[in-house]
Amino acid sequence: MNKAFTQRYVTQRIKDGFSFTFYCDLCQRSYETEEIKTESFTEALQKAQSVAYLYFNKCHKCGKWICDEHYDESVMECVECSALKTRKQIKKNLKNTRKCKKCGTYIEEENCFCTLCGRAIQ
Ligand SMILES: [Zn+2]
Ligand SMILES: [Zn+2]
Ligand SMILES: [Zn+2]
Repeated sequence: MNKAFTQRYVTQRIKDGFSFTFYCDLCQRSYETEEIKTESFTEALQKAQSVAYLYFNKCHKCGKWICDEHYDESVMECVECSALKTRKQIKKNLKNTRKCKKCGTYIEEENCFCTLCGRAIQ
């Protein structure tokens, strides 16, 4: 199987072997391997990937391989997935807020009184 771990990569045929450039799945950032001297393309690709792995991070959500800049280490996901999660979280939080009947301020669920005018919230 001659499939690389990143979605995009470029192969350069050199004198006694190959070298590869792997790209972040979200941007143009790339990592170029050293020359790998072998006649077998499959072997070269395997070797190249075992080194290139270290320069990328795998998103545990979508499985993309991305550069450090597009990786949110705290959640082990790419920035796209983590942003999506944040958006969902914001939506959910909005659902949990209620409106004060008196002044119209949005109050979080756990508050029993309006934070602005002090009216009791049912
Ligand atoms: Zn990137
Ligand atoms: Zn992702
Ligand atoms: Zn109020």
